[in-house]
Amino acid sequence: MNFDGKIALITGGAKGIGASIVKQFLENGAKAVIADASLDGEQAAEQWRSQGKEVVYVQCDVSQSDQVNNAVSVAEQKFGRLDFVVNNAGIFPRADLLQTDEVFWDRVMDINLKGVYLMCKAAVPVMIKQGGGCIVNIGSLHASVGGEELFAYAISKGGVVTLTRNLARSLAKHNIRVNGVHPGWVASHGERALMRAKGEDEDWPEQRSSAMPFGRLQTEDDIANSVVFLCSANAGQITGQMLSVDGGLGFKF
Ligand code: NAD
Repeated sequence: MNFDGKIALITGGAKGIGASIVKQFLENGAKAVIADASLDGEQAAEQWRSQGKEVVYVQCDVSQSDQVNNAVSVAEQKFGRLDFVVNNAGIFPRADLLQTDEVFWDRVMDINLKGVYLMCKAAVPVMIKQGGGCIVNIGSLHASVGGEELFAYAISKGGVVTLTRNLARSLAKHNIRVNGVHPGWVASHGERALMRAKGEDEDWPEQRSSAMPFGRLQTEDDIANSVVFLCSANAGQITGQMLSVDGGLGFKF
């Protein structure tokens, strides 16, 4: 993997899977923009800068078009181009159909689906102008299998699949590839906080491991590995694909 001279923008790059994606881009020579709603992104960027990496943090709630447009402008102003966009920011609050009111539905859709549309709309003109680029959208296993307690979430991720396929077709003529990754189950920062709130023991990932086909949950790095692969020249003829990185969880052996 050689991303020397390339610029990657990662939404939700402050924590969890997004932070691991940032790490992998930087370790392979890219420069990065962390676009995250949380100010923790500045701390993350500062840590990378102290190790000699070129990283910018921009506060960005992906559901707000002005903030998304600003994040892309910052990338362009700071680095002069934008090669990779990873739409990773997402929320996964639990609620079934009857617990889901309109405010809850709108919030999930605004961040998980509208945020991806807004970021693509902002970034694609830059990619067209420079002659190409690559977009990776983070979906979920639940996009295909649903999820009783993840009603709005699963539907928002289903929309991400359709958006990915739609853009892959229309942007190929601009040398822009659009793919996605479906993580299985990652004990990320956000997932741990949710499980804590549900009263689960801190070792819930180990407790659940025996039910996983390979005896473990996925790690943040498992997901990030696939993201950087899809952005690499090795994936130069891959577009419109959603790569499941779920250890066979969705496939069910
Ligand atoms: P996380 O909660 O650990 O991290 C999410 C990051 O996104 C945080 O830095 C947060 O500040 C940021 N963020 C949240 N809302 C935002 C917004 N409106 N605008 C910009 N940034 C925002 O989550 P994670 O587990 O790392 O999940 C990352 C992605 O992976 C999400 O899209 C999630 O749906 C998907 N996913 C996660 C799992 C899992 O098991 N953890 C499984 C399938 C899919």
